Amino acid sequence: MTLHRAQVRDDNDVLEGVVRYSPLRSLWLTTMLCGALVGGAMTASPAAITLFVVTTSLVLLLGHSLGSHRKLIHNSFACPRWLEYLLVWFGVQVGLAGPLGLLRQHELRDFAQRRPHCHPYLRHGAGMLTDAWWQLHCDLVLTNAPSIRIETAIAGDRFYRFLERTWMLQQLPVALLFWAWGGWAFVFWGVCARVAACVIGHWLIGYFAHNHGPMNFEVSNAAVQGHNIRFASLITMGECWHNNHHAFPGSARLGLLPGEWDPGWWTLCLLRRAGLAWNLAVPEHLQPKGTSA
Ligand SMILES: [Zn+2]
Ligand SMILES: [Zn+2]
Repeated sequence: MTLHRAQVRDDNDVLEGVVRYSPLRSLWLTTMLCGALVGGAMTASPAAITLFVVTTSLVLLLGHSLGSHRKLIHNSFACPRWLEYLLVWFGVQVGLAGPLGLLRQHELRDFAQRRPHCHPYLRHGAGMLTDAWWQLHCDLVLTNAPSIRIETAIAGDRFYRFLERTWMLQQLPVALLFWAWGGWAFVFWGVCARVAACVIGHWLIGYFAHNHGPMNFEVSNAAVQGHNIRFASLITMGECWHNNHHAFPGSARLGLLPGEWDPGWWTLCLLRRAGLAWNLAVPEHLQPKGTSA
């Protein structure tokens, strides 16, 4: 698969722009956070907290890591279409964006970070507090936004278009199910706290993965390098090996060296053994992207 779906006219296209407050994004996260902090505190119980831990782990592993990132965005393994849909639906449950919106954001960021310069929004380079405000409550509006061409198999897919239109509403059936099962406690913990933790956690890992931590590889002439965050290997399902990911974006395996735990890769190996995943791309089959070890 091609590395980039983005195209620019000149290098300044990923540099010049303004960060604008995004009312919908901000309201979405604030609502979830209030539900988590106020509702969650009032209804905390061992069962509700267990539901939070289990559902958060599931959507991060099956959804964000496998469905959205390793499959939809990087197409780093093959699987049956029904399983791809299921994994991407789990990815939507993370509460970050619709599948097409997420793909666009990732594509722009990945592309911009490899250019010699890019806007600090795209490289998490404005300091931690500013970055939190920008990434969680604002959007970047580039003066000349690059065109991002998503292949028809994804952009024209009716299921993905449906998820794109309804990604916030996709929490509703889950919330109803949890309400019927365990009342408001299950809604506050299983939906609000899960979405708030996933969205804030995603930003936090993104911030550190572009600012601090060891590196195995260096991408030459790039605006920013990826860094590995060792302590986060299990809670990020292996997504914390971001330095390796910058070097081999097409690899289904993110933890590459001994001791680099990668639950997403372990799960893919289990799926392969069950005959549900194949053609798992690994660095040995891929060209590193402009790197030196
Ligand atoms: Zn990156
Ligand atoms: Zn990626």
